[in-house]
Amino acid sequence: MTRRPFALRSSLFALLFPLGLAAQQPGVDVQAYHFRIDLPDTGTTIRGWTSVFFRPTRAWDDTLRLDLVGMTVERVYDLETLQRVRFTYDGAVIRIHAPRPGARGGVVVQYRGSPQDGLRFGTTVRGRRAVFADNYPQRARYWLPVVDHPSDKARVLWSVRAPGGWQVVTNAPRRCGAPSTRDSLCLESQPLPTYVMVLGATCMTVSRHAPLVSGADTIPIEVWAYPEDSVYADEGPFRRATEIAEALQRLVGPFPYARLAHVQSGTRNGAMENASAIFYNEGAWADRRLGEGTVRHETAHQWFGDAVTPRTFQHVWLSEGFASYFDGVAGAALDGDSVLTRIMAGNREIWLASSVRDRPMVDSVEPDPEAVLDANDYQKGAWVLHMLRREVGDSTFFRGIRAYYQRYRDSSVTSEQFQRVMEGTVGPGTRLSWFFDQWLRQLGCPQLDVRWEQQAGGMLQLYVRQAQPAAWGRFTVPQVPVRIVLAGGQVLERTFRLEARYGSQVAGFTLPAGAEVQEVVVDPYGALLMTAEVHR
Ligand SMILES: [Zn+2]
Repeated sequence: MTRRPFALRSSLFALLFPLGLAAQQPGVDVQAYHFRIDLPDTGTTIRGWTSVFFRPTRAWDDTLRLDLVGMTVERVYDLETLQRVRFTYDGAVIRIHAPRPGARGGVVVQYRGSPQDGLRFGTTVRGRRAVFADNYPQRARYWLPVVDHPSDKARVLWSVRAPGGWQVVTNAPRRCGAPSTRDSLCLESQPLPTYVMVLGATCMTVSRHAPLVSGADTIPIEVWAYPEDSVYADEGPFRRATEIAEALQRLVGPFPYARLAHVQSGTRNGAMENASAIFYNEGAWADRRLGEGTVRHETAHQWFGDAVTPRTFQHVWLSEGFASYFDGVAGAALDGDSVLTRIMAGNREIWLASSVRDRPMVDSVEPDPEAVLDANDYQKGAWVLHMLRREVGDSTFFRGIRAYYQRYRDSSVTSEQFQRVMEGTVGPGTRLSWFFDQWLRQLGCPQLDVRWEQQAGGMLQLYVRQAQPAAWGRFTVPQVPVRIVLAGGQVLERTFRLEARYGSQVAGFTLPAGAEVQEVVVDPYGALLMTAEVHR
């Protein structure tokens, strides 16, 4: 997701229905949903028939619980026999008693209502009626009966009846069978978390860019815009939509979905990485302020966040940190390394100026998913990957990234699982817990106080103190770069090892005979997330 600068975040629904409280539902693994939605010609009342195909797990207690907030549930029936199934509904959770689960079984929930959130009807900036979903982080439940937790990914099929003249965009690119004819039902999407399941419908112009070739597959790349904004989109921010996806595919692995659509929409965010149908804020698009960086970030999410999904919102840096970093990596692949350098400098600046430096990136408590999304997940997350790459080297880093994607594509992960893949890629017996613990669980970053002194024999001594607040802990950095500027202009590049064991340490450098030190710069190229005050 790209957040809107200065956007007001509505807390109304958070007060009514605390969003962070829903946990993964034990005993149930949803395999697939078929959402059939009738959109009204006027008003905001939808009708829905959702087929839920699920499997019981060991904790199955004979009750299927589906999140659905503020709708009217008309009936629930068995998908195969079409017999009614007993249920209760308290306005937030449907409890369905003793449904028959199984590979061919499931239930259909028939419901209607005017969604309070999640699916929003409105008028576009171009003055036309429209409806757009905005499910992040747990808003699907306001209009879809689902297990609304990122750990329970499921395939999804959409059947949408919309007013005449509207185009409908969803996660699935093709039409399919009717909900009651189970045998003809094809479930088209890869398994998705509910927060990237999406529907948008209004009058739109669809343009087709050069497709992405992925092995034997040809993946359409489309831009869905309001008619007034279509030419701008094709020639501006999405001019290189195919090249961006190609660059990421080369670096990470095959594109995960059957199509990629970039969609102008009413999302309340700057942009939202809905799987295979990315939604961009209509205002920035119409005002011609949409940048290619947003396109790179959201495209990167298709691999990181959508295909490989954080198991809980505690690990959301696996989505936002990766998308922020691969925005820069894709930019560097297209336009040279200076793009990444510039983006990482910006990330450093934003994080250092943020108020979340004294919060850990991965908290031990399941957080409110709205409150947790901050500069730690985006900017510091990108820096964790950048420093990991520096630590293990380019080729090992990208081998690890590819192995991680290959192994966890279409499932959900924790930070520990990413760590283990990287350790395995570096080599047997490698432990990277020192790196991940200090960057994911410790607070802040190193704040070095460095005093230098040239000794009588010519040797340069650095007295290095880790001056960050004690609550942040100490850090190990195997290679801290140092630039030594000598009188006469000669420049020496050296490194020293920063050790978490010591609050203060001394690093000594032998210099050429007769050299006189003029200036010492720690981390001169901004390769690390740290600050250093250097004085004589
Ligand atoms: Zn994002």
